[in-house]
Amino acid sequence: MIPIFLMKYVILENYVTQSVAQKRSMIQGQCQDLVSQISQSGYIHGASSSAVDRQMKQLANLYNGRVIVVNSNFRIIRDTFGIDEDKYIISEEVLESFLGTDSSNYNQENEFLELTVPIKAEGTKEIEGILIVSVSTEDVDEGRDALNNTVWILQVVLTILICMTAFYMARLLTRPFGKITQSLEEVRGSVIEDQEISIPDYTETKLLSEAYNRMLRRMKLQEDSRQEFVSNVSHELKTPITSMKVLADSLLAQDEVPAELYKEFMGDIAEEIDRENKIITDLLSLVKMDRKSSDVNIQETNINQLIELILKRLRPIAAKRGIDLVLESFKPVFAEVDETKLTLALSNLVENGIKYNTENGWVHVSLNVDNKYFYVKVEDSGIGIPEESQEHIFERFYRVDKSHSREIGGTGLGLAITRSAVLMHHGAIKVYSKEGEGTTFTVRIPLKYVP
Ligand code: ADP
Repeated sequence: MIPIFLMKYVILENYVTQSVAQKRSMIQGQCQDLVSQISQSGYIHGASSSAVDRQMKQLANLYNGRVIVVNSNFRIIRDTFGIDEDKYIISEEVLESFLGTDSSNYNQENEFLELTVPIKAEGTKEIEGILIVSVSTEDVDEGRDALNNTVWILQVVLTILICMTAFYMARLLTRPFGKITQSLEEVRGSVIEDQEISIPDYTETKLLSEAYNRMLRRMKLQEDSRQEFVSNVSHELKTPITSMKVLADSLLAQDEVPAELYKEFMGDIAEEIDRENKIITDLLSLVKMDRKSSDVNIQETNINQLIELILKRLRPIAAKRGIDLVLESFKPVFAEVDETKLTLALSNLVENGIKYNTENGWVHVSLNVDNKYFYVKVEDSGIGIPEESQEHIFERFYRVDKSHSREIGGTGLGLAITRSAVLMHHGAIKVYSKEGEGTTFTVRIPLKYVP
C-alpha cells in the first residue's frame, strides 16, 4: 500500500508540472509574436495599434489572465485590466527581464503563472520595455483534483483488493501449519505408538514434519532404552533375591540341618547380599552421573596423584592373580575435573583390566598431556573383547559373557558409568581390542572444564 500512496503523489505532481510547462511554452510562443508586433509598431513609444490591442485582449481572454506592457521607465503603458495604467512597477522579475532574460514564476498557492518577456527594439538589442503576462492556473488545479479523485478511487479499490488477497493468501499459506498443529495435538499418550506426521504441502512444512518425525524416533529410542533399562534393573535386582530365597527355603525345608550346611548357605546368602549391594551402588553412581552439571564438583586436581591412588587401591586385587600393574606418566598433569567421578571412571577401567585378564598377566596405565587435553591409556594382556561386542560394552548391563562376568562380580554397569563420567567432562573414550590378546581403553579429557 505504501507504493500506491507514493505513486499517487508522484502522478499528481508530475501532472501539475507537465501541465504548467505546457501552458508556459504555449504562452511564451504567443508572447514572442506579441513582443515583435509591439516593437515593430512603436507601441512602446506611444503609437497606437489596434492589432496589438486586439492581440493582447485575445491573449488575456484565452488564458483568463492579464497582460501588461511596461516601458523602459518602469511605467505601465497598457494593462488589459485597465486598473494599473500609468503606475510604475519595479519587481524582481521586471528587473531581471531588463537584463535580457525571460522569467516565469508559477505560484501554486494563488493559482497563477506569471511570465515576463523583454521587448527589444527592432534590429538592436536594446530593451525598450517588458511584457508581463499573468494567467490563472485554476484549470491545472481542477485537472489535478479530478485526477486526484480518480486515483483515490483506484487507491481504495486497490487497498480493498490487496487486503482481500493478503487475507486469502495468509489463510492459504498458513493452512499446512494448522495441519501440523492439529497433527501434533493428536499425538497423545506414549511415543511408542506410530505417530509420525506427514505434511508435504511446502518444503518448510515437509522439513518441519521430517524434523518432528526424527525427534519422535529419537524419543522412541529413548523410551525403548528406558524400558529396557527398567526391565534390566528389575531383573538384575531380582536375581540375587531369588538365589537368597532358594537358599533360605531349602534350609527351612529341612529338619535338623547340620551347622556346616547352615554356615555354607549363610555364606552364599551373604555373597548374594554383597552382590545386590554392588548393583545398587553402581546404579546410584550411574544416576548421579546422568544428573545435570550443577551436581558436578570441579576442582583443579593432580591427575598423576589421582591415578597413583587408584592403582594403590587395586594393587592387592591384582597381586592375588599375579597381575603386574604399572603406571607410566610422562609429565605432571593438573586438570579441572570432578575427582570422585573421574576416580570411579578410571577405577572401572583398571578393574576391568584386572578382572578380564589371565593369570600372571599385566595392566599398563599411561598418562600423557598436550596443551588442551590429558590422555589416559589402560592396556591389558587379557582375554579381549569380540569385535561384534565392542560397540555394546558401554551399554548398561551389557556383558560379553554373562556367567563369567557374574562369577567375577561384574554388574555390567562399570563401563556405562565410565562413559557417562567421561562425557560429563566433555571428553572421549575409545576401545581397541583383539580377542585372546588384550584390550586398550583410551580416555581423552580437556584440561579446562567447560560447563
Ligand atoms: P562388568 O561389571 O560386567 O565388568 P562393564 O560395563 O565394566 O561390566 O563391562 C562390560 C563388559 O565388557 C564386561 O562384562 C566384559 O565382558 C567386557 N569388558 C570390559 N572391559 C574388558 C577388558 N578390559 N577386557 C575384556 N573384556 C572387557
